[in-house]
Amino acid sequence: MVERNLSVFTAERLRLLESAVVNSYDSIVITDAGSPTSPRPRIVFVNEAFTRLSGYTADEAIGRSPAILQGPESDPGEVARMRAALARGDVFTAELINYRKDGAPFHVEARIMPIRDEHGRVSYWVGVQRDITARKQAVAEREKLEARLREKQKLESLGVLAGGVAHDFNNLLTIILGNASLARLDARNPAAIEQNLRYIEAAAVRAAELCRQMLAYSGKGRYLVRPVDLNAILCESADLVRSAAARGRAVQLELDASLAAIRADASQLQQVAMNLLLNAAEATEPGSGSITLTTRMQTLSAERLTRAHLGAELPAGNYVVLEIADNGCGIAAEIIERIFDPFFTTKFTGRGLGLAAVLGIVRAHQGAIEVESQPGQGATFRLFFPACAAPANAVPAAAPAAPLSGRGRTLLVADDEQLLRETVRDLLQHLGFCVYAAADGAEAVELFREHHATIDAVVLDLSMPRLDGAAALEAMRAIDPGCRVILMSGFSEDEAVQQFAGCGAARFIQKPFSMDSLLALLTVVIDSR
Ligand code: ADP
Repeated sequence: MVERNLSVFTAERLRLLESAVVNSYDSIVITDAGSPTSPRPRIVFVNEAFTRLSGYTADEAIGRSPAILQGPESDPGEVARMRAALARGDVFTAELINYRKDGAPFHVEARIMPIRDEHGRVSYWVGVQRDITARKQAVAEREKLEARLREKQKLESLGVLAGGVAHDFNNLLTIILGNASLARLDARNPAAIEQNLRYIEAAAVRAAELCRQMLAYSGKGRYLVRPVDLNAILCESADLVRSAAARGRAVQLELDASLAAIRADASQLQQVAMNLLLNAAEATEPGSGSITLTTRMQTLSAERLTRAHLGAELPAGNYVVLEIADNGCGIAAEIIERIFDPFFTTKFTGRGLGLAAVLGIVRAHQGAIEVESQPGQGATFRLFFPACAAPANAVPAAAPAAPLSGRGRTLLVADDEQLLRETVRDLLQHLGFCVYAAADGAEAVELFREHHATIDAVVLDLSMPRLDGAAALEAMRAIDPGCRVILMSGFSEDEAVQQFAGCGAARFIQKPFSMDSLLALLTVVIDSR
């Protein structure tokens, strides 16, 4: 029978144990703990695996410091942690980079244990090292491959994006250029010119819509953020789709009357609802198609949110949930991961921006999104938005004011793009306004200083040379704190927009805009004086 008490060694057992140590696959190195006369620890024993791993024979290693295994990439933090653990007499475990005699690095999983004498003092250290170089290399190789794959996918989706944008815009520009040429040829036929102009307008509106979707995808289109009633937006969107795209489909609303408000840009939420509703309509058949819009409050844990797209970083808490479910064709498992990619579509070239825009908007509103679908079983899109403390039905609806007349009123328009500046100026002059035009922020401030007593409102581009819109606005406020300003921009990630827009005296308009929407905003701004 085997003797259990290993402290009573016989010569036979010592021989067995030594053979186990010598033949171990793991490298074993024993170091003395140093002495008062020679405080630096020295290697006193190494096994064969140590020699295989480090390249040092027993004769070369014994008597030397274990620091022979350290080298240029040894992590100084780990080495310090090891020294501190050893000084305390603790067991130390870590993954380390060590160096062979020929200078080649290798990775080990190391465990260093103290051996104490009969007085409890540490007299030796036993270090066991497992070679994990192959595992580390495999991980590094996999990471490299994954990075390369990600890079390739990024380039591919950029290529698809650029191709899609070019395709759509070239078509629209062909319509615009063609109709402009036709209008010139038809110079004597007002009815024909009217038709050409209508086509040009329609193409430009479609191009603006494409830009809106792409800005939304990039998360840079969050313009006017305020507490919004999601239920009201859904009612409007459902009416719109019912009357157009969703003809023949049943569109039901199941809205929670006690829904909290969400801090959002109302027009972007409408874009989200429309994109999802149109997809649901297109996935279903007239006659049998059914689309259900549901809203509710839900308290979500961080783990629950992590399972949704964009949810990983979101805090647990109260969320407003919007669910759009249809009984349409559903989504195949092999494409469900790609449906949010820009220009990914199962329809036709030039489509595929809808869900990309939805994802961008949800991201910009610190929300998350979830999709559940089986082919042939319909699809459910579930969106989560952080809830405000206030109930949604307390949000006042804005009443549109009757557009004002330009007669007797003076405006200052500043934009560095000459054609745009002159077009806006000419249109406003047509509406009866007297207009000063400035080519940059500095010129705008000078004109404002001179004429501010008569200027009713300023229309100011955000990105201009010399002095940008935000700085010009600040300078104008210094001259007249009550000045009325509309900021305009082709994009709106600008902090300035969030800072100034919506605070009464300054509003924001997204380019491209129609004259009607500029006039509507001028009415609000000038009337609030
Ligand atoms: P588009 O609708 O223009 O193709 P989207 O980005 O909105 O672009 O959608 C991408 C793809 O996702 C669609 O082409 C379709 O295959 C799939 N999809 C989106 N919504 C649904 C749905 N409700 N049911 C089935 N498939 C859907």
